[in-house]
Amino acid sequence: MTFYYEEGEVPALKEVTLQFEKGLIYSIIGPNGAGKSTLLRLLNGLIPHFYQGEMKGKVLVDGIDTREATVAQLARKVGLVFQNPEHMFFSETVFDEVAFGPKSLGYSQDEVNRLVRSSLEIVGLWELRNRSPWSLSGGEKKRLSIASVLAMNTDYLAIDEPTIGQDHVSQMNLISLFRRIRDGGRSVIVVTHDLEWLEDLKPDVVILMVNGSIVKVGELDMLLDVRLLARNKMFPPIAAIVKYLVGEK
Ligand code: ADP
Repeated sequence: MTFYYEEGEVPALKEVTLQFEKGLIYSIIGPNGAGKSTLLRLLNGLIPHFYQGEMKGKVLVDGIDTREATVAQLARKVGLVFQNPEHMFFSETVFDEVAFGPKSLGYSQDEVNRLVRSSLEIVGLWELRNRSPWSLSGGEKKRLSIASVLAMNTDYLAIDEPTIGQDHVSQMNLISLFRRIRDGGRSVIVVTHDLEWLEDLKPDVVILMVNGSIVKVGELDMLLDVRLLARNKMFPPIAAIVKYLVGEK
């Protein structure tokens, strides 16, 4: 798959071929402008349904070509959590905020209630369901935005830079949350520049992107490859640097 934004002279994605399975945590790393956000937008159909551009090749979600699917159909498959989703809260209660997605997808009231409850439970916010979204802490807001996407019953949860603006405790909470989501059989696709946090998350698959291309698909040990990371303008985790320096002696 190759994609050019309307005004883009160079492709934002170049001949990218990837396949995502259920029940895994994927992480996508790479320097700014590597095409990570573009890849997420392709997965849930924001491209081509909202962003204009030229697409060569295909994106299939459960065998459905995203060009031929509606945005509502795709929203049932791949949920995307943006970097600052709290800017978009509009409901009076946490419960209603999470109920909005499944309601608009046409689920019955019983199903909506069930989906809201299970999503708020998995993110640990069920007790706060009657609170205003605006009264939550930063970490709770992030988890609320994740619950809003989970409530649409998606198999894949794609998240752009979840640790930005989050304190240490909230970052660790996200790790246990992502593992619970994976262990429930869904997949989490995390874009992050935070390799220290990624070491703790221990994703099943690490995908390194640079300049719109996939440089490497591997496992966690890729984060120890100081040369590979530095060559691709990424700052390796401290532990990897120390190991590298000690090994050099
Ligand atoms: P990353 O998420 O890895 O920082 P992006 O996917 O945001 O990378 O960007 C990949 C390339 O696409 C960059 O060259 C960027 O300037 C370009 N790009 C991103 N969004 C747009 C847009 N809405 N319109 C035009 N070009 C864009």
